[in-house]
Amino acid sequence: MGNPIEYLKGVGPLRAELLKKELGIFTFRDLLEHFPYRHVDRTKINLVREIRPDTEFIQVAGRITSVNVLGEQRSRRLVAELRDATGVLELVWFQGVNGVQKLVQVGGEFLVYGRVGFFQGSPQLTHPEIEAFQGQVADRPEYLEPVYPTTEKLKIRGLGGRQLGKLTQVLLNMLKERDLPENLPEAVMAYPDPDTGLPQRWVSRYEAYRQVHFPQDPMVYKAAVRRLKFEELFVAQVRLGLIKSRRHRSSHGVVFAQVGDMFNGFYTKHLPFELTGAQKRVLREIRKDTGSGRQMNRLLQGDVGSGKTIVALLAMLLAVDNGFQACLMAPTEILARQHYEGISALLKELPLEVRLLTGSSRSKSRKEALRLAQEGSLHILIGTHAVLEDPVQFQRLGLVIVDEQHRFGVAQRARLWKKAEIPPHVLVMTATPIPRTLAMTAYGDLDYSVMDELPPGRQPISTFHRFEERRSQVMDFLKHEIGKGRQAYIIFPLIEESEKMDYENLEKGYINVKAWFPEPKYWISRVDGRQKAAERDTNMRRFVNGDTQIMVATTVIEVGVNVPNATVMVVESAEKFGLSQLHQLRGRVGRGAEKSFCILLTSHRLGREARERMGILTETDNGFKIAEKDLEIRGPGDIEGTRQSGLLNFKIANIVQDREWLELARERAAELLEKDPELVTAENRELKAFLQAQQGRTAWSKIS
Ligand code: ADP
Ligand code: MG
Repeated sequence: MGNPIEYLKGVGPLRAELLKKELGIFTFRDLLEHFPYRHVDRTKINLVREIRPDTEFIQVAGRITSVNVLGEQRSRRLVAELRDATGVLELVWFQGVNGVQKLVQVGGEFLVYGRVGFFQGSPQLTHPEIEAFQGQVADRPEYLEPVYPTTEKLKIRGLGGRQLGKLTQVLLNMLKERDLPENLPEAVMAYPDPDTGLPQRWVSRYEAYRQVHFPQDPMVYKAAVRRLKFEELFVAQVRLGLIKSRRHRSSHGVVFAQVGDMFNGFYTKHLPFELTGAQKRVLREIRKDTGSGRQMNRLLQGDVGSGKTIVALLAMLLAVDNGFQACLMAPTEILARQHYEGISALLKELPLEVRLLTGSSRSKSRKEALRLAQEGSLHILIGTHAVLEDPVQFQRLGLVIVDEQHRFGVAQRARLWKKAEIPPHVLVMTATPIPRTLAMTAYGDLDYSVMDELPPGRQPISTFHRFEERRSQVMDFLKHEIGKGRQAYIIFPLIEESEKMDYENLEKGYINVKAWFPEPKYWISRVDGRQKAAERDTNMRRFVNGDTQIMVATTVIEVGVNVPNATVMVVESAEKFGLSQLHQLRGRVGRGAEKSFCILLTSHRLGREARERMGILTETDNGFKIAEKDLEIRGPGDIEGTRQSGLLNFKIANIVQDREWLELARERAAELLEKDPELVTAENRELKAFLQAQQGRTAWSKIS
């Protein structure tokens, strides 16, 4: 199976080179895993008359009645007419014109196959598959013919969809059952039929590969695809399960054995509210992890406003109670300061040393924080990435919390390990919910907690979608809210690709807002990435303190900022933002007792996807639902932070469409590992061998 593709009969070095370059097919296995995307019944010849506006693919036999080369250079194309007994079909080639010209001549009889398009009302095929044809569909096999993804380059060099099928056929004829041994353990072979619920048995692996390429009929094909999808998901889940349990067994962590005075004192006397059920559950999970003797490595997902800060604070108090120091890291200066101020206020009655350290800390306070940390008299350090820098040394660092960042990288973790003999526990918190299916795959080897409950008494945020033409009404609404003493955000997009224009729009927008809201009645804070940190900070702070009523900003404020008095969020050119980004922005309001609003302004001309996004946001404010939709619309490849994750490179499974198989695979993998954690029993031998071989291959191709 690992044989180089050039050794397959009919390939040879030249075609092998092309297959590698164009399709990444290096070995026999790669060819076998190059799955057809559809099958066609090529035993049937259609008539031109049968073509309907919704006809997708068609196969027609006929005689060429004209051939013309039209246009110059890039628009140069060959147009031929093919006539059968019922009508005329136009054939068009833009590439390989010279080669086609030799083949396709007036009077010749051909069989053509391709996707139907319409040009000025008449049907045409662009770059059809074409072969000389004498009256009969001769050596047609009985099966449905597979259609493979291919490229224009390959088509021209005789490696179009059909030829790929022929090669695959050659390969399948060579393979014996033992070349594709069953890798699913007997205990996993049975599954409940999704329609009837009755027990079914997976088709064997050998059979599945044959049928997925050349199925006898559509039912058999479906069963084969299902089997291969399940296998792929199951194997991935077993692999993740193994990584996770090995990490659990081998890692050492400091032990937080007890809950002491700080935690208890704060909990009983200073906690400003009753914790939600989700917050309590997560705290229990953290307690269990940190008391276990192994290192905690936990991802906490909580929707915007679900109250992650207080969980972080209580976890830090747990560390302090056990004689350890704790550190809270935020992605921005603004957020770090906000955490520092909030947490210091909450802890003011307790005998605790809390300090702030950021890139702009003055040297005196910096020095002091460093000294206290090293001596061990500092209990809690709050800061930006500055806390990762080398001069920051702790006496007994026991817990690190990373806020609003689920992509806390390996390199950054490594820097933490240098700060303590035994690596501290790590809790990464993110407000970008990750759909369950994605979490199960991309983060399946991490421990994760979910806070899917908002504190009680929150008023839902009303979200509206408005076209730009109605901006003046929106501004009037803002005036009304500000008149009641509230504050508002107006956010402009800033995208790297169109940065210059975006800044111009921001500038115009700012001037515009100023015209609507003139001083001295109104004051505006402007915050964007081009400002110096100090200027940005001052503007930010004026808004936080209530000295300005409006903040005009780019997405620098996206994450974490907490101004409970702000009740209106206006997003300009909302169509330029992704779903989760809009959800984050919206999360900046609705933080106080007053009713809040989010207004999405877009241009009149909206694409289908953008329209869909606006619809989803106006319908729900549940971040997990939104994340699921985002995944559905964009597909797993595009979700932030998962791109590099080799774990999502599924060949046939799709975590959005196949979520029911993913759930089943996960369940079965867990059962299996529970009984046989290291896969040593005879029943799991093939599976283990398969995993090892796969591991070897991925290590070789450097996918981690
Ligand atoms: P996020 O999860 O987005 O970081 P925060 O920790 O900033 O959320 O909390 C949002 C707001 O909710 C804060 O004002 C916080 O004081 C408040 N809050 C957190 N937990 C509760 C609770 N259990 N009951 C009431 N209010 C809470
Ligand atoms: Mg937060």
